[in-house]
Amino acid sequence: MTIMKAARLHVPGEPLTIESVPIPQPEPHEVVVQVEACGLCGTDIHLAVDGDIPVQHTPITLGHEAAGTVASVGDSVTEFSTGDRVALFPSATCGRCRFCMAGHESLCENARVYGMAQDGSLAQYVAAPSWSLIPIPESVPSEIAAIITDGVSTPFHALRSRGRLSAGESVAVVGCGGLGTHAVMLARMMGAGFIVAIDTQEQARDRALELGADLAIDPAAEPRVGKYIRQRLGRGVDLALEFVGRAETVDIAVNTLDTGGRVIVVGVGAARVQLPPLVSFVGREHSVAGSFGMDKRDIEDLFALVAGGRLNLDRSVSGRYALAGINDALARLASKDTDVVRLVVNPGL
Ligand SMILES: [Zn+2]
Ligand SMILES: [Zn+2]
Repeated sequence: MTIMKAARLHVPGEPLTIESVPIPQPEPHEVVVQVEACGLCGTDIHLAVDGDIPVQHTPITLGHEAAGTVASVGDSVTEFSTGDRVALFPSATCGRCRFCMAGHESLCENARVYGMAQDGSLAQYVAAPSWSLIPIPESVPSEIAAIITDGVSTPFHALRSRGRLSAGESVAVVGCGGLGTHAVMLARMMGAGFIVAIDTQEQARDRALELGADLAIDPAAEPRVGKYIRQRLGRGVDLALEFVGRAETVDIAVNTLDTGGRVIVVGVGAARVQLPPLVSFVGREHSVAGSFGMDKRDIEDLFALVAGGRLNLDRSVSGRYALAGINDALARLASKDTDVVRLVVNPGL
C-alpha cells in the first residue's frame, strides 16, 4: 500500500478535504508513524477556521498532537523499530541547535510545527525525526498519549518550568478551556494550596471546580477579579497563568497577584499588553513572562505520571471522530462548546 488518507487544508475558512496522498517514506533519520490518535487544538481553529495564523504552504495536512505505532524506520535509526508505540513532539525539532542540545526543545531554532510548516498527523501516516519521538508506556492509551503531547504538556511546562510552582502556593488560571482545565488538574497534582479558575463560561467554571479549583470566578459578572480574590483569600495569588492571549485577560492575571507574584502568559495572539504602573509593578516585584509549548522532558514526565496513577486524564477526551468527521469536530471546537476539553481523531477509521 502506498496511498493513505489525509485531512488537507487548501483555503483557511473552507472545510478540510479528505484526500488520497502518498504514504511518506522515511529519510535516513526519520520514523514513519501509523497515527492512532490526533488531538485537535485551538491552534487548528486559528489555522483552518479563522485563518489568523498562516500555514507556510497549502495544501497542507493539519494535526500536531499525535500518537501511534512505528510503521517503518530510516536507515540510520537505531532507537525505534516497527511496532513500537510512540508519540510525536508537536514539531519536528532539529536536534542540534543550542536549545535542543540543552533540552529546551520548546525554543528549537529550526522547529517545523506539524500541520503548519510541514504535513501533520491528521493522516494515516506521518514522518518524524527519530529524536523527536517519545515512547509511550504500555498502560497509557494512544488517545491519552496524543493529548498529553500538547494539551497537557503546555500547561505543565507553564506551571513547572516557567511558573516554578512550589507546593502550597496559590494559583489563578485565566481561561479554562482545554489547556486551562488541565492547568487546574496539574496545579492540584503539584500541590497548589489554593486554585482560582477564571472563565466567562459557566460549564468551564463548574468543570474546573470538579477537577480541583477551590473558587471559580466569572469576570463578566465580577469585573474586579483581583479584589474579589483578596476578599476571599486574604491576599492575591502567587502564580497566575493566562491561556486566552488577549490584553484584557493578561490584565486580569496581573490583577490577581500577591506581592512578589508572577504571571505566565501562554495564550498567543497579536495583542500588545501593558505593564501595570511601575510604582506597583516594580514596588511589588511582579513578574510577567511567556511560556511557549513544552520540552520533550515534559511529555516524558507526564507519561510517567499517568502510567504511575498520579494523574488521571480519563475525563479529558470529550469526543472521538473518524477522519471523515474532521470538519464536524473542528466546528464543535470552534463553537466554544464548553463541554470540550479535547477532541481526538483516529485517522485509521
Ligand atoms: Zn496545539
Ligand atoms: Zn533545535
